[in-house]
Amino acid sequence: MPPRIQQLPPLVVNQIAAGEVIERPASVVKELLENAVDAGSRRIELEVEQGGHDLVRIVDDGCGIAPEDLPLVFASHATSKLRNADDLFAIGTFGFRGEALASIGGVAHVVLQSRPPELPHGAAIECRGSELSAVRPWNGAPGTRIEVRQLFFNTPVRRKFLRSPATELGHISEAVTRLALAYARGSRPGLHLILRHNGRVVHDIPPQATLLERIGLCFDEQLPAHLLEIEGSAGPARLSGYIAEPSCDRNNSRMQYLFVNGRWIRDRNLGHALQEAYRGLLMTGRYAVGFLFLQLPPDQVDVNVHPTKCEVRFRNAQALHQLIYTTVKARLRRANLVPTLQVPATPTLSVPTASSIPFSRSPTVLPELPPRSVPIAPPPPASPALESLPTPAVPTPRQPLASPGPATLPLFARVAPPRVLQLYDAYLVVETDEGMLVIDQHALHERILYDQFRRRIETGTLQCQALLLPEAVDLPGEMAGRLLEQREALAELGLGIEDFGGGTILLTRYPVLLGRRSPREALLAVADHLSNQEQPPSRQVLFNDLLSLLACHAAVRAGERLSPELINELLEQRHLADDHHHCPHGRPTALLFSRQELERQFRRV
Ligand code: ADP
Ligand code: MG
Repeated sequence: MPPRIQQLPPLVVNQIAAGEVIERPASVVKELLENAVDAGSRRIELEVEQGGHDLVRIVDDGCGIAPEDLPLVFASHATSKLRNADDLFAIGTFGFRGEALASIGGVAHVVLQSRPPELPHGAAIECRGSELSAVRPWNGAPGTRIEVRQLFFNTPVRRKFLRSPATELGHISEAVTRLALAYARGSRPGLHLILRHNGRVVHDIPPQATLLERIGLCFDEQLPAHLLEIEGSAGPARLSGYIAEPSCDRNNSRMQYLFVNGRWIRDRNLGHALQEAYRGLLMTGRYAVGFLFLQLPPDQVDVNVHPTKCEVRFRNAQALHQLIYTTVKARLRRANLVPTLQVPATPTLSVPTASSIPFSRSPTVLPELPPRSVPIAPPPPASPALESLPTPAVPTPRQPLASPGPATLPLFARVAPPRVLQLYDAYLVVETDEGMLVIDQHALHERILYDQFRRRIETGTLQCQALLLPEAVDLPGEMAGRLLEQREALAELGLGIEDFGGGTILLTRYPVLLGRRSPREALLAVADHLSNQEQPPSRQVLFNDLLSLLACHAAVRAGERLSPELINELLEQRHLADDHHHCPHGRPTALLFSRQELERQFRRV
């Protein structure tokens, strides 16, 4: 006989649901907080003991629960927030599944007391492991009061997974933070949120606190000073919030907050958009900080995909990715971030300020030059002479400038050049109004070349040099294969290759922007990069990587003595780069030792 089928008893149903929804004390806190908010509360007080192991108590001043409904609050799929399936597509509340209290009641001892403000008396009920007490009268203040004790008393495995009170408190505090940020004064009335742990106040967020003030209260009071406001829209989608300067970066993505219609969510795709916008500003392995708020018509987002509702599905995820990417990127570009050097209080720290650099400020724009005809360049020498390496944009009789096609950038007037000194054949020290600017010559040149490459590729004005006699490059192992796989991407970057067989590649074409660097070496660097990839990178990532690789290859290096003309060219081109403060790998190109700091250090002020 096959095993017989039977309906599970409510306790088991609820424990299964709790398994999904109630992972730890913070999940209880999250669900209770959301219920209090859904009830229209203006003030919510949370009291937690021993990280929530011993007690979670929440008191709100919301609409309360009618006494005759009390027997239903712990029933599964019992809710006041949803009437029919159509409502599922226009949800305006946190809750709608009617499962939270049933789950909590299944794995804890809960006392619930409630009084709607319009009634003279309220009522109370208890639930312990899904067993309900009788409803008793209760005479408390209007609103709802819920106490949860003995969490996981009947699920020892879950209880074992509880961490230290401090760790659990951390998660609880995070749940409070997410709600506090979502309910800043503004589009809706502010929420007064209080969290106490073992009698000590952890959070007390006043209702009138703005989003910026809430961020300061929940994280670090210094953080708001480093935030940039963002605003954008695409169709019916609206994006607002703050992003942090790159110097606030973290080693994980936890400080990337994303809210959709007031609900905190996790979304890898949109997190990626934020990271992408910071590309070039952050070192690899570092994460941006941001507080992003998306407002969407309810029918554009499905919140019913995850039991804890921390993940949602968007109707048009691609458009939202684009909205976040372009808005954040444009804002960062506007911020003109230059790291400031501060010594000696913080020896290696560089705190960025939004100050600008004199020769990048208000440049006089000259009319565009007419396009020049470009002579065909002779093939460059295989190993470039080190002492005189023109940057690709410096026309010399032997090394023509890449053609200034239709997308020619405006040239800037030669204002009196700033005073410059090259140190250690690697750094340029520049006198500016703001202070002493120390530039990394390689990083800056790399940035300039990267942007030129990129722009010329985008506008189809990349100049290539064809090799009349293709150069044979022998490659070990499967490197040749890897290169040939990316033939199209390489062609876009101006590198023409052909298969000669037997691991030999013929180099037929290279971008003029490589200057006098050996194109063969560039190809080897590209092959090396490709063979180090564990899995094939996305097109976009590959393109960016190779672009910065070529820029790095072509740029002047540390250890090269630069002529005064070259130094001037480099400085003049500085402001032509999109983000001249960081090289494509995210390292700063310049550090500012502010004049003020200098004067402070010498006790002049
Ligand atoms: P959901 O929030 O998905 O509706 P819950 O199990 O969290 O499901 O809550 C069940 C119901 O109990 C809610 O729909 C609501 O009517 C009522 N309720 C719970 N907490 C409160 C509260 N703090 N104030 C008023 N009503 C509440
Ligand atoms: Mg709920």
